[in-house]
Amino acid sequence: MARAGKKVLVLEKRPVLGGATVSEEVYPGFRYSVFSYVVSLLRPEIIRDLQLPKHGLTILPLESTLTPLPDGDYLYRDSDKWATYRNIQRFSARDADAYGEYGRDMYFMAKAVKYILGIRPPDPTSLHPGELLRLAKLGKHFLGLGADKLHMLVKLMTMSSAEFLEEWFESDPLIATLSSSGIIGTFLGPRSPGSAYVLLHHYMGEIDGVFRAWGFAKGGTGGISEAIASSARAFGAEMRTDSGVAEVAIRNGQVKGVVLENGAEIDADIVVSSLDPKLTFLTLLNPEELPNELVDSVRGFDTYGSSGKVNLALDAAPDLACLPGLGPHLRGAISISPNVDYLERAYDQAKYGQFSEKPYIDVVLPSMIDPHMAPPGKHVMSCFVQYAPYQLNEGTWPEQREAFGDAVVNTLSEYIPNLKKIILHRQVLSPWDIEQTIGLSGGNIFQGELSLSQLFFLRPAPGYADYRTPIRGYYQCGSATHPGGGITGAPGRLAALEILKDGKL
Ligand SMILES: Cc1cc2nc3c(=O)[nH]c(=O)nc-3n(C[C@H](O)[C@H](O)[C@H](O)COP(=O)(O)OP(=O)(O)OC[C@H]3O[C@@H](n4cnc5c(N)ncnc54)[C@H](O)[C@@H]3O)c2cc1C
Repeated sequence: MARAGKKVLVLEKRPVLGGATVSEEVYPGFRYSVFSYVVSLLRPEIIRDLQLPKHGLTILPLESTLTPLPDGDYLYRDSDKWATYRNIQRFSARDADAYGEYGRDMYFMAKAVKYILGIRPPDPTSLHPGELLRLAKLGKHFLGLGADKLHMLVKLMTMSSAEFLEEWFESDPLIATLSSSGIIGTFLGPRSPGSAYVLLHHYMGEIDGVFRAWGFAKGGTGGISEAIASSARAFGAEMRTDSGVAEVAIRNGQVKGVVLENGAEIDADIVVSSLDPKLTFLTLLNPEELPNELVDSVRGFDTYGSSGKVNLALDAAPDLACLPGLGPHLRGAISISPNVDYLERAYDQAKYGQFSEKPYIDVVLPSMIDPHMAPPGKHVMSCFVQYAPYQLNEGTWPEQREAFGDAVVNTLSEYIPNLKKIILHRQVLSPWDIEQTIGLSGGNIFQGELSLSQLFFLRPAPGYADYRTPIRGYYQCGSATHPGGGITGAPGRLAALEILKDGKL
């Protein structure tokens, strides 16, 4: 919007910009990607339009995934496809043969679905000719995939990730590790229908045109927010931190500006909220100003969080039992997902209001890729953890937080024997802490489940998936809008295009 010559003011409640995409020096000398930790889904058109590399964005590839197994063995996959073939072959020759074709098919599916990341969802209930045309275009796009791919797409939209993967593979470590992409950020287990879509969502990223690649931003994920902020400033936008918005002011159905938590009033003809719908509609506004069906939809919008984060400052490099010493495996992801039953049991506990004693953990060591993240010889370790249900059956999160941290460290220590000895500091974040710190309702990392009932023209509510609201001049642009969560920039870009189209500025 600033690039289009508009006068833009960004108001951030915290002292630091970036929300869930932020790097902070929590302990002197150790910089953490406190919440989000890897990037892939950031839209290339945004990187280009905002000239982010010129503003400091550098994305370093994260090239491998190591899955350590309880018996001391491991599965290792990296960008060397023959080495990966041989590694998978140790578990199943059939899987090694199928792996390449699976990758190609998922690549194709993700490319096909990627089309919808760049469009405003049409409203299927509208009879407006423009909407009908958009719907027809969408239908044509998907029919163009051909019968086989269309069948695969329907499976991905409806099946569980484990069930979907069992159609391709037979070895448990491979199925489990791949299916973990289907549970990240959701309150679903690998055998829950709907998790295969989340798997596909995580395949849609690209880095420098390399589709499906995951990477690590130099300086941590805050490097991305800082590059976007620097670009925005260069285009004339102003940014104010420590400026929480208490209320959106409206008069006669038209937005008038905002009132800050400190009582200051700021006039504006357009206000755009990047908060989740519960905050956007029910907290910042008086719900009586809104149609009942929207208020009901927002109240029912599922923002139940299920993920936690444990960030560790380490005195030395971790030493894995399965691959001792330093090596390229420490520059990739380490996935604690030895088999599907393990993941499903972790989910079982969460269903009944307990955190998983043996959780799924996705570990990266940012300081192995960018040495500036920690003092020389020391490291930061980012552990994304499931499951940590927002609502505990017994006790509260402030009471249970450290026990959850212990469960994570104890689990990791089974695979990294020197871990306990090298931990200097530990930061444990439950969904409750995530909610308290960055205001994500329920601590849901995507501002709302990526379930079929909350996607596309239903995100965040039927009839309101076009970034507009019933209040004239009030728009929504957070990851609770299409196409959903992750460091994508996509909802913000699509919202800005709609606002500019309305031409009210
Ligand atoms: C623990 C965790 C791990 C994740 N891991 C990854 C990952 O590895 N890769 C990935 O792609 N995605 C990941 N995500 C998801 C990704 O970070 C988010 O989808 C993305 O950052 C959402 O951006 P957003 O701008 O929509 O919302 P947010 O990042 O939630 O930003 C909202 C902002 O609004 C501010 N705010 C709240 N209330 C007010 C108010 N009243 N007034 C003013 N400001 C206010 C908040 O402080 C915050 O800065 C993760 C998220 C979490 C929480």
